[in-house]
Amino acid sequence: MHTLIIEDDDLLGDGIKTGLEALGQTCDWVKSAGAAEAALKLTDFDVVVLDLGLPDRDGLQMLRDWRRQGRHVPVLILTARDAVPDRVQGLHAGADDYLTKPFDLSELAARLHSLVRRAAGRSRNVVEYGPLRFDPVSSEVSMRGKAVSLSRRELAVLEALLQQPGRILAPGQLQDHVYGWSEGVESNAVAVHVHNLRRKLGEDLIETVRGIGYRLREVRE
Ligand code: CA
Repeated sequence: MHTLIIEDDDLLGDGIKTGLEALGQTCDWVKSAGAAEAALKLTDFDVVVLDLGLPDRDGLQMLRDWRRQGRHVPVLILTARDAVPDRVQGLHAGADDYLTKPFDLSELAARLHSLVRRAAGRSRNVVEYGPLRFDPVSSEVSMRGKAVSLSRRELAVLEALLQQPGRILAPGQLQDHVYGWSEGVESNAVAVHVHNLRRKLGEDLIETVRGIGYRLREVRE
């Protein structure tokens, strides 16, 4: 799951990024509305954490514009403005959820997961795909009832493929899910993660569509 954090406070932004990464998310962090616009053009984020008081623009206005432009990425507003009219205004502007500072990091992570789940049209957090079971909040994976231990990157690849099973994802798209911009990435990194996933979850789970990318195959129970 690739999260964009828009927060101009250094301490808070760094804390959120580090904390969410420790919980298995891939994060990029920007400190202004301008940088956020650029980031969203560059990368297909799964979810956005938006601070309202930004140096160059009001976050709420920016969000309103996104929704008007048809940009549907799920957004969680993070703010010190906790009065009820502010919350209502935020939700009217097109926010999907609202969290008031100070907040608990594990609550933030859980809410982000639930936004991504809802955006994918799932009513439950746990994803079941044939004999595969994946809990994005606890990062627990099992195959035919047997727990499988996956690295953070492998989890991110699997989660991306599970978001729309059957859809082919190009290596570049998968890379977007797995790595932030500041991370150095070997050109064959995604292929290596796919190789490891096949080794751990069975050779037949992930299909290579030659010249295009990867997708999940239907696996018998
Ligand atoms: Ca701020």
